[in-house]
Amino acid sequence: MNAVTTTPTTTPTRPPLTRADRCDRCPAAARVRAVLPAGELLFCGHHGRAHHDRLLASGAVVEPPGALVE
Ligand SMILES: [Zn+2]
Repeated sequence: MNAVTTTPTTTPTRPPLTRADRCDRCPAAARVRAVLPAGELLFCGHHGRAHHDRLLASGAVVEPPGALVE
């Protein structure tokens, strides 16, 4: 199943990722959060970079800012 969690839009800041957060594409620890109008996706560094361009094209906000820019 694709577990997309929704967060109330009234929440200005989100809690930081923890070690319990996992990439939505693999079992690795999540490093970045992509906030989409429909919900949030978590990615490890590898998958975050792999989907970065597509996420931005979809209007996603990647947190923390610059996490995928090296
Ligand atoms: Zn991954």
